[in-house]
Amino acid sequence: MFRSNLNRFFVAIFCFVSLFVIYPVHAEQVIVYSARIEQLIKPMFDAFTKETGIRVKYTTDKEGALFARLKAEGKNTPADMLITADAGNLWAAAQAKLLKPVDSAILNTNIPSHLRDPQNEWFGLSIRARTLVYNTKKIKPDILSTYEALAEPQWNKQLCLRTSKKVYNQSLVAMMIAEYGEAEAEKIVRGWVNNLAVDPLSDDTRAMEFVAAGRCDVTIVNTYYYGRLMKKDPTLPLAIFWPNQEGSGVHVNISGAGITRYGRNSQAAIKLLEFLSSDKAQNLFADVNMEYPVNPRIKPDPFVAAWGDFKQNPMNIMKAGELQTTAVKLMDRVGYR
Ligand code: FE
Repeated sequence: MFRSNLNRFFVAIFCFVSLFVIYPVHAEQVIVYSARIEQLIKPMFDAFTKETGIRVKYTTDKEGALFARLKAEGKNTPADMLITADAGNLWAAAQAKLLKPVDSAILNTNIPSHLRDPQNEWFGLSIRARTLVYNTKKIKPDILSTYEALAEPQWNKQLCLRTSKKVYNQSLVAMMIAEYGEAEAEKIVRGWVNNLAVDPLSDDTRAMEFVAAGRCDVTIVNTYYYGRLMKKDPTLPLAIFWPNQEGSGVHVNISGAGITRYGRNSQAAIKLLEFLSSDKAQNLFADVNMEYPVNPRIKPDPFVAAWGDFKQNPMNIMKAGELQTTAVKLMDRVGYR
């Protein structure tokens, strides 16, 4: 009798212990919704898990779909973090009350203030520079100077642009409105439209292909598209020019992240966000997409660094969100399709 009770006791203990061995119910995790594709996020998540033991689960989709999902899920969302490109998108998520502020000395140290939300609801993790790319056989770089100079009659039928439907151009124009005021920005964008060699193109790569083919002299693109294209065909007659270096600097935007308002693992998610801004992860985050680290202590990938240093516009990128609607209306008014 005594023996079988003891056996039962040991069986019970065994079952109880194995429950925790098989199901580590207390393992920390973070759930991420990401508009960055898997291959651009998985390496950093793996590094984070290795360092902290915190698991990262993620869902990738287009920003619109993730945004709608977060909104529909409301307080029941499983997501702890939203990762997306363009400050315009992050700003919109904050406006829709999908994110919550994070007070972190680590984030404030690692990320320059113009690349994060003044209310601390989103943070830039990599810099995307939107700059000029020109045809090296057709023009010399010394005739290039600024974004606004591309509105001058000298560039008549020599400019190619991506469609105004893309948030990158909406952010660029929004930042120009913030800098010059709406009337002056409108004059510049109208000048661009007048100088178009062909109708606005579907994407940055297409715009550069038109420049390379000699259909136009110059275009405005994000540098990582230039990197991808030149890796595919290094013989293309294309080069980067950094505009506005005597003035306010190159227009920069971000890929970044925010902590969701209703996520259940906010503390772990903040640890992940801090990790992504750290010296250790910044190269992983930026280099996979040929972007620039936000953390000023970290150098870009050598392939990217070879395009040269540039001065970036220090105006807070939140303006890209704040003035996005104004920018879209402006572009519509001047016939930028
Ligand atoms: Fe892009």
